[in-house]
Amino acid sequence: MPLTFLGAAGEVTGSRHLVEAAGLRLLVDCGLFQGGRDAAARNREPWGFSPRDIDAVVLTHAHLDHSGLLPRLVRDGFRGRVHATPATIELADLMLRDSAHLMAAEAARHERHGRRERELWEPVYGFADVDALRERFAPLGYGDWRELGGGARLRFQDAGHILGSAIVELDLGAGRDRLRLVLSGDLGQPGRPILRDPARIESADALVVESTYGDRNHKPLAATLDELVAAVDRTLRTKHGNVLVPAFAVGRTQELLYWFERLTLEGRLPEVDVFVDSPLAIEVTEITRRHVELFDEDARVLWAARRRGAPRPRIRFLRSVAESSALNRIEGGAVILAASGMCDGGRIKHHLRHHLASERTTVLITGYQAQGTLGRRLVNGDPFVPIFGAQVPVRAEIITLGGFSAHADQAALLDWLGGFRQPPHTWLVHGEGRASQALCERIRVDLHWPHCSVAARGERVELAAAAADAASAS
Ligand SMILES: [Zn+2]
Repeated sequence: MPLTFLGAAGEVTGSRHLVEAAGLRLLVDCGLFQGGRDAAARNREPWGFSPRDIDAVVLTHAHLDHSGLLPRLVRDGFRGRVHATPATIELADLMLRDSAHLMAAEAARHERHGRRERELWEPVYGFADVDALRERFAPLGYGDWRELGGGARLRFQDAGHILGSAIVELDLGAGRDRLRLVLSGDLGQPGRPILRDPARIESADALVVESTYGDRNHKPLAATLDELVAAVDRTLRTKHGNVLVPAFAVGRTQELLYWFERLTLEGRLPEVDVFVDSPLAIEVTEITRRHVELFDEDARVLWAARRRGAPRPRIRFLRSVAESSALNRIEGGAVILAASGMCDGGRIKHHLRHHLASERTTVLITGYQAQGTLGRRLVNGDPFVPIFGAQVPVRAEIITLGGFSAHADQAALLDWLGGFRQPPHTWLVHGEGRASQALCERIRVDLHWPHCSVAARGERVELAAAAADAASAS
């Protein structure tokens, strides 16, 4: 029963793991490589297997670094089922459509500029491939087992990372070789709004776990909310300016809307105007509202308060470009949430171009800003930033709020791992080298787990032997 790490090993993107058991070939996730100079080439390189020979895909969640190459897999001959939760299927379809659109737009730009190396910028799939993928999805809710053939079965548990995200439990093999493989997918930070905390898993023989923040802990959420309230208050009441918030369309936008509603309900914020200026984020917000059954207790309470007509911010969803442009006429008093989260595209760029030169503006950075992005330049305090070919002076106040994260930090990861009754044989994925190594060290020292290692890119391990090691050690 081999398990092969084909992506997100020693890095945080391109999640793809191949599980083989009793003639069955399963792919867990099929994500895009993102960022870095060789991402374009890696998203186009040969699979290392024949897509036709894959019996099924298990998709942990809709983020593109986990789902983004599925249409290419279908285009290259995959004909099996893609098992995912209903919310993941809705979100993935939306995001893959957006991804196909962005690829087509980028290709058109390269075509216009006569760029060579066509093989590096031609879209790896189009809308027809996303449509073909749609027919392959097989919805599976949390907590139910599904037989996959060959004695294998699959169950999802809530991972608390984004809407619909799942931890994967796989029972594989037969007789004395029967074993349980658990893959964490991306795990959420406990105590976050809207989503439930990651489900605790008690039993596994082999475990693949993410380690994005394996070497550090997040700032406390309460302090971050205090900073949010202070920044909004100062900008709107003292400076009479606008607050710009670059926000990821999936997850962060909905979380921020939750906090604006909650803080207004608690009387900590006045009833301000909040504009959500991102068509993708608006669609994701609508999908989220259709899945109240997935909400945690806090979100249900807030939802009920809304129905009673409690104080609320005036939230407006802007779909058209004309509505978006009209925001330029608002000199002060508005909170504008717009994608992209790292300011590299989307409508936020237009708002930054228009408002960065004003001291009355505040930009709230609420998420990770990768090296080389416009958001990173703002965080670094660059006095001028390039936007649409112009050098824009930065006179706005830039505030980084460090307490929002969709990923469990080191303490939360160790706490989740502590839920297992017996130490499984463990591999760390989805982390940069330092983060994965640090977590591995803590697992060995603090949890006394004897078998823990950082997965290497392309590494192939034998599950039955690993499970036997884990059993003999406990
Ligand atoms: Zn994710």
